[in-house]
Amino acid sequence: MSWANWSGSVTASAPVLRPKTEAELSVAVRGAHNVRAVGAGHSFMPLCQSDGVILCLEDMAGTMTVSPDRKTARIPAGWSIKRLTGALWDEGLALANQGDVNPQSLAGAMGTGTHGTGRDLGNLSTFARGFRLIGADGAAVWCDATTSPDLFQAQRLSLGLFGIATEIEVELVPAFHLAERIEKRPWGEIRERFDELVEQERHVEFWLFPHADSVILKTLRHCDPCDPPASTSDIEEATFRHLLNLGAWVPPLIPTLQRMMMKTNMDGRRRGPAHAIFPSDRTIRFEEMEYEMPRKVGLETLDTVVAWIRRKRLPVAFPFEFRVVAADDIWMSPMNNGPVAAISMHQYAKMPWRGLFADAEAIFREHGGRPHWAKRHTLTRGDVDLLYPMAERYRDVRRSVDPAGKFLNRHMTELFS
Ligand SMILES: Cc1cc2nc3c(=O)[nH]c(=O)nc-3n(C[C@H](O)[C@H](O)[C@H](O)COP(=O)(O)OP(=O)(O)OC[C@H]3O[C@@H](n4cnc5c(N)ncnc54)[C@H](O)[C@@H]3O)c2cc1C
Repeated sequence: MSWANWSGSVTASAPVLRPKTEAELSVAVRGAHNVRAVGAGHSFMPLCQSDGVILCLEDMAGTMTVSPDRKTARIPAGWSIKRLTGALWDEGLALANQGDVNPQSLAGAMGTGTHGTGRDLGNLSTFARGFRLIGADGAAVWCDATTSPDLFQAQRLSLGLFGIATEIEVELVPAFHLAERIEKRPWGEIRERFDELVEQERHVEFWLFPHADSVILKTLRHCDPCDPPASTSDIEEATFRHLLNLGAWVPPLIPTLQRMMMKTNMDGRRRGPAHAIFPSDRTIRFEEMEYEMPRKVGLETLDTVVAWIRRKRLPVAFPFEFRVVAADDIWMSPMNNGPVAAISMHQYAKMPWRGLFADAEAIFREHGGRPHWAKRHTLTRGDVDLLYPMAERYRDVRRSVDPAGKFLNRHMTELFS
């Protein structure tokens, strides 16, 4: 094994190459019969496996170029969100929104529709304005809304199918500060008030342990400039890890352990530069499935899944995460039908998850959900066609730029060959 994803559930034996220049990258692509790019390997689906080589752009030379109007920048695609948002901050700029963590590469995050939370905020793919790609023949091409527009539309959420992105033009906003507030609230109250909170707050989300009666509510608001936040304590994380290990050892204890966990003090406040407040540390490994539900059935779907888990006393050790994302017009985006409620179901990586996820997925699908492409799902080619009217056009673009299927792997062949 030469490579494993973040959760350890996907491995590959293909060599991982780390080109330092675009010329080296081009030679590597031209010479290989099968190529997949990898960023930080944070996807739970087998997106980065390859029968040939895996290409990682982390070591590639490159700089960020901010446009004269300061509304966009061209950014090396292999930069992590952490590196990128730090560099933007030094320029007085920022991404309008971010997800829960920041080690992901820019290309990987955009390539899977990674998102944060916020009524008016789309996923990260919506920030892309153009791409420089190394195609299957090793040559560089540029695409944007006017140059090769079909390739651009497909590449906005690419799953790595259209070439290796070396540079991405990204829409930016002026740098801003955020105040984070984390508090424990009764689930019944948040169930009632959530839509109102979505209207009030720039960002709102909650975490719900399926066997507990309260939620961890997180809101982020604009605030006045202030210093970076002090580093957070890891006591909570240590307690959580301890309870998870106990639960993995004796699964029937999980409902009681979750209620105990929710008795601990979880309230917290932080303020600071937005890019320092958006991400959290995730040191406990988990496996994840996420379904993007039509906004109006999000809470009802969560109710149904949680009621099923409680009725059967199922050992789901991790909390659900509930967020909202604005609609977009990207061909393969799960948000292209309207705004969504994103329901993430996690399981401790040391515990079984396949059976639980399969049963929950049936509930998500019944309620009209579409999965996050990077997180566990079992869509077939037929499902993709049913859920995405533009799927065949996406495949047509893929066939035109990569007729021999150099950028396909087994999982991608099943869905997009
Ligand atoms: C702890 C954790 C927290 C997470 N939090 C969130 C969250 O808050 N919101 C959310 O939506 N998701 C979240 N995710 C999912 C994560 O954002 C996605 O899996 C994302 O794709 C990871 O980026 P990556 O750089 O690791 O990409 P990888 O998993 O390495 O790759 C993802 C895809 O991008 C392609 N790719 C990578 N680089 C290139 C390139 N240069 N050119 C072309 N294609 C490329 C790959 O081939 C692959 O298809 C989380 C995952 C983890 C493990």
